[in-house]
Amino acid sequence: MTWDVIVVGAGPAGLLAATRAAERGRKTLLLEKNNKVGVKILISGGTRCNITQATDRRGIIEAFGRNGRFLHSALAALGPEELIALINAEGVPTKIEETGKIFPASDKASDVAHALERRLRRTKCELSLGEPLVRFEPIEGGFTVHTPGASRSTRKLVITTGGQSFPGSGTTGDGYVWAREIGHTLVHPIPALVPLTTDETWVRELKGVTIPDVMIKVSECAEAPGKFSGQKRLPNERGSFLFTHFGISGPVVLNVSRWVTGHVNPSSLFLLCDFVPHKTQQELEELLQSAMKEESRKQMAGILSIFIPRKLADALLIQAGIASDQKGGNLSRSQRKSVLALLKSCPIPLSGSMGFRKAEVTSGGVSLKEVDSRDMQSKLVPGLYFAGEILDLDGLIGGYNFQSAFATGWLAGESV
Ligand SMILES: Cc1cc2nc3c(=O)[nH]c(=O)nc-3n(C[C@H](O)[C@H](O)[C@H](O)COP(=O)(O)OP(=O)(O)OC[C@H]3O[C@@H](n4cnc5c(N)ncnc54)[C@H](O)[C@@H]3O)c2cc1C
Repeated sequence: MTWDVIVVGAGPAGLLAATRAAERGRKTLLLEKNNKVGVKILISGGTRCNITQATDRRGIIEAFGRNGRFLHSALAALGPEELIALINAEGVPTKIEETGKIFPASDKASDVAHALERRLRRTKCELSLGEPLVRFEPIEGGFTVHTPGASRSTRKLVITTGGQSFPGSGTTGDGYVWAREIGHTLVHPIPALVPLTTDETWVRELKGVTIPDVMIKVSECAEAPGKFSGQKRLPNERGSFLFTHFGISGPVVLNVSRWVTGHVNPSSLFLLCDFVPHKTQQELEELLQSAMKEESRKQMAGILSIFIPRKLADALLIQAGIASDQKGGNLSRSQRKSVLALLKSCPIPLSGSMGFRKAEVTSGGVSLKEVDSRDMQSKLVPGLYFAGEILDLDGLIGGYNFQSAFATGWLAGESV
C-alpha cells in the first residue's frame, strides 16, 4: 500500500481528519478538487465563519433533532470548547455574539481556514489540490483510488466530500454516488437551511425589510393536504426574519426550510407568521385598542409601526382591506380583529425554495445506521470512513454544522 490513509475533500471534516491522522503518524494524503482548501469555510457566515455555538455537547446534539445522538462520541473527542481551543492555539482569537454564535474576533473566515491549513501543513500530510477523486474500489487490505491523472492504493479511505448544496463551491454530491455504488443506503438528499420562495407580490415588494423577532410555523393548506415526510409535529421556530425579492429568508426561515423542501408538495404549504411574538393575542389587542383610543387621529399604519416596520404595516393593512391612511379612531371592531389576525398569524403561501444552489446544507446523505458512530467507520466496508456533511446530519443555523463536520472529521482522523 502506498498510503495509510487517503482523505477525500478538504472542507472542515477532511482538514481535521487528515491533520489528526498525520499527527498520529499515519502516512496521509488529502485530495481536494478545488485549488484551495476550505472553500465553504471562506464563504461561511457572510465570510465571517460562525465556527460553533457557545453551548455544551447536549446543546449541539439537540440542534440535529433525532439524528443528533450519532454525535455523542465525536463531540466527546472534539466538543465546542476543544474546537475553539484548537483554533485559538493557531493564533486566531474568537468571540461569542449575543446569539451564542462563535466567530473569529477578526470577523474574517479566512483566518479560520488559514489556521486549519497551518496546522495541517505542520504535519507530514501531503495535500494535493485541484485533484478530484473520480472513483475507488476495494482491494485486498484497502482500496485503489483513481483521480484523472493517477491511481493510488491506501489502507484506509476517508470520504469527506460534503453534501450537494452550493455546488459552485465543489460540493456536487460525488460522495453520495460512491457510497451508493459500494452498497450504502442514502437518505434522499434535500436542500436545507435554504431561503423560501413565494409568488405573492406583496411579500416580494417588501424586499429588504427585516424583523428581528418573528415566530413562524409551517402549515398545510386545508384545500390541498399533503404529508410531512416523517414529521408529525409541524415546526415552530422563532428568530430573525427577512423579506427578499424572491420571498423570505433569515435564520428563522432557514431553520424551518427542510420541512418545506422535504414535503411532497411544497406549493401546498404556507408559513404562519407571528410578527409580534413577545405579546399574546390579548395583550396585543389591549395595546392596539389603547393606542387607537389615545391617538385616534393618527393613521393606522403609524399606530402599527409601534410593533412592526412601517412598510410591513402598510402591506398588512392592504391585505386587511384597510386604507393605510385610515385614522385609528375610525377602525371598526371587525377591522381591528382582521389587523390583529394578520399581526399574530399572517399566512404567506409558499411556492418552494431556492434549491441546492442557495442551500447552506444538505439534509439526508449516508445513512447513520450503516456508520459506526464510535469511529466513523462504515459498518459495511471495513477501512472506509465517512465524516462531515456527507452523513445524514444537518443542524440548525448557528455554527452547529461546522461543529458536526469538525468533530466527526477529528474522530475519523483519531480512528484510522
Ligand atoms: C454559504 C454558506 C454559508 C455557511 N455558513 C455556515 C456557518 O457560518 N456555520 C456553520 O456551521 N455552517 C455553515 N455552512 C455549512 C457548512 O459550510 C457545511 O456544513 C460544512 O462546510 C460541511 O463540511 P464538510 O467538510 O463535511 O464538507 P465541505 O465543507 O462541503 O467540504 C467538502 C470538500 O470536498 C471537496 N470535494 C467534493 N467532491 C470531491 C471529489 N470528487 N474529489 C476531491 N474533493 C472533492 C469539495 O470541493 C469540498 O472542498 C454554510 C454553508 C454555506 C453554503
